[in-house]
This record gives sequence, structure tokens and C-alpha cells, in this order.
Amino acid sequence: MITLEGINRIFQVGDQQVHALDDINLTIEPGEYLSLMGPSGSGKSTLLNILGLLDKPTSGRYLLEGREVTSLSDDEQAQVRGEKIGFVFQFFHLVPRLSAFENVELPLVLAGMAPAGRREQVNNILEQLDLTDRAHHRPDQLSGGQRQRIAIARATIMKPTLLLADEPTGNLDSKSGADVVEVLEKLNAGGITLVVVTHDGQVGKRASRRLRMVDGCIVQDERG
Ligand code: ADP
Ligand code: MG
Repeated sequence: MITLEGINRIFQVGDQQVHALDDINLTIEPGEYLSLMGPSGSGKSTLLNILGLLDKPTSGRYLLEGREVTSLSDDEQAQVRGEKIGFVFQFFHLVPRLSAFENVELPLVLAGMAPAGRREQVNNILEQLDLTDRAHHRPDQLSGGQRQRIAIARATIMKPTLLLADEPTGNLDSKSGADVVEVLEKLNAGGITLVVVTHDGQVGKRASRRLRMVDGCIVQDERG
């Protein structure tokens, strides 16, 4: 599903160059469940952002479902992202003025779906996540765990094939974190390819394939 070949990402900071990703080669099969661990600054978020088409490599090739995506225009990348990729962040990134329902509905609005269809899909997903009674609350009226589950609903309502999560439990207590991991794992069991960046060893070791990064390189790739 994913092939990265010789991916480098160099940030220019003043007169310094930061080599955030150093010749990354990686293949991910459909339906895999990967965790990505490593010290702060090792390049985990940079790699996830490139996988999610939120950032472009300085050099190298990225094939997503057989298609070279690094050379696409911004608009084309946005389209691929909208159809195939869901992204979940540590700090949720919900729209503060919108209700939980409206946050989840947003991708469907942007995709031009009619209101009745939207309502049905959003209600279904809120029910699956046990959030029906929170539908009309704003994010600031929800707990961290509820916010993250709303963010996951928003990330997956377009039925992406790839779900990327950057420290999804990093801002949650352990019980809420466990609930969020359970939701992510259910989605993976349903077929979605899942990549979770985490510094929590308990979360990381649950994945069936575990990558470790140091200084922009993948130094360990463990299965089973
Ligand atoms: P991690 O997620 O593993 O903590 P990051 O991928 O965020 O690491 O960062 C890897 C390296 O790249 C760090 O040295 C960081 O300071 C640098 N970096 C990341 N993003 C930027 C940016 N937008 N501009 C400059 N340097 C960056
Ligand atoms: Mg990071």
C-alpha cells in the first residue's frame, strides 16, 4: 500500500540544516498496524506528516497504492488526502465553535454530500463510538477522551484506507487513552492501515509491527 524510497527531509533553520529524515526506506502492506517510537526529535512526526501528505520530502519517492504522490500538485495531494488518509493529532484539532456532530460532519460537507445522507452517517458513527449523547456539545464541553474519539470519527468518516495518529493518547489519562487505542484497533480490525506514533511503550508494544527511530533513521523494525 505504501512504499517509501530514499526519503529525506531537511529543514533549513537560519543558516543550519536539520536532517529530520535520513534516507528512509519503508514498505507498509494494506491492513498493517504499526507503531512508531523513538526519542523526541527523532523524526517521528515528520515521517507521519509525509505519509499523510501534510509535508513534502526534500528528496525520495512515495508510492501510495501504486501511485507516485510526491510529485502531485497541492490540489491533487489534497484530493488524495481527502479520499484515502485520516489524521489524528495529540491535541485533537477540533473546530472549537462547532458541535461534536458538526465537527464529524465537516468532511462530508466539504465533499458536497446532501444533508440527509450526512446526518445518517454522522449519527451512525457517533453511535458506534458511544457518543450519541454528546452530539450537540462543543469540544470545550467534552472530556479529552471524548474529544479524541470525535477527532477519530472526523478522521474516518470518509472511509480512508490509511489512518495516521500522532501521539493520540499523549494528552489523555490512562483510562481515556486505553479507550482511544481500542477505537483505533477496532478500525484496524475492520481493515484500515494504522500507524501510531507514541512515546508510551504500553501503547507501542500493542502494534503487530513496531518501528523505532533515532536521528531520522529507522533503526528497528520488529514484527510479531
Ligand atoms: P519527533 O516527532 O520524533 O519528536 P520531529 O519529526 O518533530 O520529531 O522533528 C525531527 C527534527 O526535525 C527535530 O530536530 C525538529 O526540531 C526538526 N523539525 C521538525 N519540524 C520542523 C520545522 N517545521 N522546521 C524546522 N525544523 C523542524
Ligand atoms: Mg512528534
